[in-house]
Amino acid sequence: MDVWTHHRWRFPLPPRHKFPLDKYELLAQRVVADGLVGPGELHEAGPVGWEELGAVHDRGLLARIRDGALTVREQRGLGLPWSPELVERGRRSVTGTIAAARHALEHRVALNLGGGTHHAGHAFARGYCLFNDVAVAVAALRRDGLAERVLVVDCDVHQGDGTADIFAADTRTFTLSLHGARNYPFSRIASDLDVDIASGAGDREYLGALDVALGQALERARPDFAFYLAGADPWKGDRLGRLALSKAGLVERDELALDRLLDAGADVCVVLAGGYAEDVRDTVDINAATAATVADRTHTPVIGA
Ligand SMILES: [Zn+2]
Repeated sequence: MDVWTHHRWRFPLPPRHKFPLDKYELLAQRVVADGLVGPGELHEAGPVGWEELGAVHDRGLLARIRDGALTVREQRGLGLPWSPELVERGRRSVTGTIAAARHALEHRVALNLGGGTHHAGHAFARGYCLFNDVAVAVAALRRDGLAERVLVVDCDVHQGDGTADIFAADTRTFTLSLHGARNYPFSRIASDLDVDIASGAGDREYLGALDVALGQALERARPDFAFYLAGADPWKGDRLGRLALSKAGLVERDELALDRLLDAGADVCVVLAGGYAEDVRDTVDINAATAATVADRTHTPVIGA
């Protein structure tokens, strides 16, 4: 299947920083090695235009990001040191999500090997998130008349505050976030449906809550298009998450989310969001399993039939 990557665009990080910069290249290699992605199907996304980002984000914030003029407070909230490389990479990550979303319209489901930067809101960039790729992709699809009612299913272990902020007044976009009750962000912006999961919760508890939440969200949202944030950080070994899902449980989660969305008639764009295992190879395992679940559900249109 076709996927989008931006792993060759790296940026300077202090030693032992928790951001898994090496993950992206390892994952790109892994999905090819696993036979999920042919060598010609690994696409490098170009940088998204500032105008396109302006459909979602505050112009002043974008200018400060572009010019390296974030305030000390903004810089601290972001948690990544500003550099031109960081900005370039962030712009490419957004394009990957837009391209995957467009691809999903023809293939039912598609994947960006990154994205899901859900802590970026209209006028703030924080929690390792510079731009909200999903929100920019929603704006792009709507502008082109390709999506109307959208559901965002956020299964990263951290609450999707930026996405909730951007879509707060948008009645055509429904935001669902399932997250660790005691995880970042500690002051929240309400989604349309927020589900707090108790610290230490395992597969059964989580999957039961997701099942119920998907039923409620689908009934209220009636989406023709969905974004699914398949965060790897609900895994029990994650350094930044307080939940205790197994790798097998995360596969069940992906299957449940994708099958419910597809059965409801929505096309689905999958993004990977966070994952902070001590050994980056565990995060790569989880993300590669998500890619396999997506590949199993990709529909190939029959040309000329
Ligand atoms: Zn996260």
